[in-house]
Amino acid sequence: MNAGPSRRAALAAGAVAGIGTTGLAAAGPAHAGSRTGGGAAMNRGPLTVFAEPFGTTKNGQQVQRWLFGDHVLGVAMLSYGALIQGIRAVDGHGGRADVTLGLDSLEQYETMSPYFGATIGRYANRIAGGTFTLDGKTFHIPLNNGPNALHGGPDSWNTRVWSATPIRRAHEVGVRFGLVSPDGDDGFPGTVTTSVDYTVSDQSVLSIHYRATTDKATVINMTNHSYFNLAGEDSGDIHDHRLMIRADRFTPIDATSIPLGPQRAVAGTPFDFRTLHAIGSRIRVPDQQILNALGYDHNWVFNAGINRMTTPVVTVHEPTSGRILDCYTDQPGVQFYSGNFLNGALVGPGGRTYRQGAGFTLETQHFPDSPNEASYPNTVLRPGQSYDTRTAYRFSTTG
Ligand code: BGC
Repeated sequence: MNAGPSRRAALAAGAVAGIGTTGLAAAGPAHAGSRTGGGAAMNRGPLTVFAEPFGTTKNGQQVQRWLFGDHVLGVAMLSYGALIQGIRAVDGHGGRADVTLGLDSLEQYETMSPYFGATIGRYANRIAGGTFTLDGKTFHIPLNNGPNALHGGPDSWNTRVWSATPIRRAHEVGVRFGLVSPDGDDGFPGTVTTSVDYTVSDQSVLSIHYRATTDKATVINMTNHSYFNLAGEDSGDIHDHRLMIRADRFTPIDATSIPLGPQRAVAGTPFDFRTLHAIGSRIRVPDQQILNALGYDHNWVFNAGINRMTTPVVTVHEPTSGRILDCYTDQPGVQFYSGNFLNGALVGPGGRTYRQGAGFTLETQHFPDSPNEASYPNTVLRPGQSYDTRTAYRFSTTG
């Protein structure tokens, strides 16, 4: 029995939470107008975290669903893939909706999901030819995206059942997910021990804290692959969402989505989101970069000289609901993907099909194919070093 209790019902039952990172509550873009901290006037209720059985994988592993948060922001996560199944957030009119794309059954996650909500490892986005050389040795990751390896290869961390333990602190609750990835896992060297904390705070912040160590030199680049739709997962496309990315440059790609190497200025291109622009306003411009990816599916390079953990590096505003999403991260880039390859084959919990543009991702990351591009920030992790990075998503509303 793989079908768990409906995500909608579970989220409505009242689980919610937020991630409290000092500085986040005060931060916010001036251009978003007056805003509230996501239901500031509402009774948030207590922060709670609990687990329930969700299903059994095809190879017999038990999967739990974790629900955490309060009445203003609630998150549902599965121990399968350490994935976010749903995020229930208030809007500017006192309503609530699930603002990420998700699926109701474990079977669908195992067979059909395009990484909905998943924790990605060891290497987010692509490695060209699935091949890289480290300390003079060449490693091969099985290909799963044309000629390239995507998101760690075909059997990567988004397909594993993670250990899970609750986190309960004064102003936040959540779950610590853990995994040991053996030496040679999907072709990568070194035994990697990783944990990822997902927490929700009483300031409506969902925080993610990734940690990893290794016993041999390896490469690592973790992210979360949630597809957001701030009008609600069943509302249609995200083309009217307004997006701002604090990036003067992006990494252009070839026809197989591998970065060409040098960074390119966004000025004068459909990639200029330095001020808020509707996602759809330039998505059909016949720019070769847009054509290569059937829309946006690129890595933006955050500007230097800003504290990315206190100043949002990405802001998205959905005018109808009044919801605002701010993203903070210590990572150097973000893959903004406009859901180009969603083809209507999946139906969400609200009963609507997910077609092209039904959601967008903000995958904070090191740049794609960094193991093969010496000019990009380094992604090598060595024994004795700690991989330790944070990303936070703050939900608020206009009004
Ligand atoms: C990639 C896309 C891919 C999507 C889902 C994104 O991170 O950049 O090309 O289609 O993940 O697989």
